[in-house]
Amino acid sequence: MSVLQTLQERSNAACELCTATKNLKQYTIPPSLNENVDNSLLVCSTCLDQIEGNTEMDANHWRCLNDSMWSEFVAVQIMAWRMLQRLRNEGWPKDLLDMMYLDDEALALARATGEHEDEANKIIHRDVNGVILQAGDSVVLVKDLKVKGSSMVAKQGTAVRNIRLDHENAEYIEGKVDNQHIVIITKYVKKL
Ligand SMILES: [Zn+2]
Repeated sequence: MSVLQTLQERSNAACELCTATKNLKQYTIPPSLNENVDNSLLVCSTCLDQIEGNTEMDANHWRCLNDSMWSEFVAVQIMAWRMLQRLRNEGWPKDLLDMMYLDDEALALARATGEHEDEANKIIHRDVNGVILQAGDSVVLVKDLKVKGSSMVAKQGTAVRNIRLDHENAEYIEGKVDNQHIVIITKYVKKL
């Protein structure tokens, strides 16, 4: 059975967040790369558009989390947690969060996109695939890059180890290529 079929079966073909039954899609929790039933859930387009930021958050819609946060499925718990975090300034989501329990592994995944951080500190660096980058990571360049202020070209495929993050700007990281300290645009790198 495919992941989608399994999700449809376990949810009785309803959005696992708000129980809507139309326009359902499989949603795999970023930054997961491999979709499976443990990191995916079935969501409707209303939920999905807000999850992905394509439409404004409608706090009232998310009252549904009052129920779905108690789902037995971890993927549903994680998305409930993330959406409650985004809405926590509304007050009631904060109360629900206080009641929620996620185990350590689920919490680590839930926190991976930084929903729990305040907007001001929420600078998240992502590689070309949307994978979150952290200081100390190694990346590989996915295209040739001209290095500003020199004639050097950093070649596609070059590994850059022990990167540093630009804490002001999510689009930049820093690292050493040929012993030269350079600034690299995150969308041109892939995490190793
Ligand atoms: Zn929904």
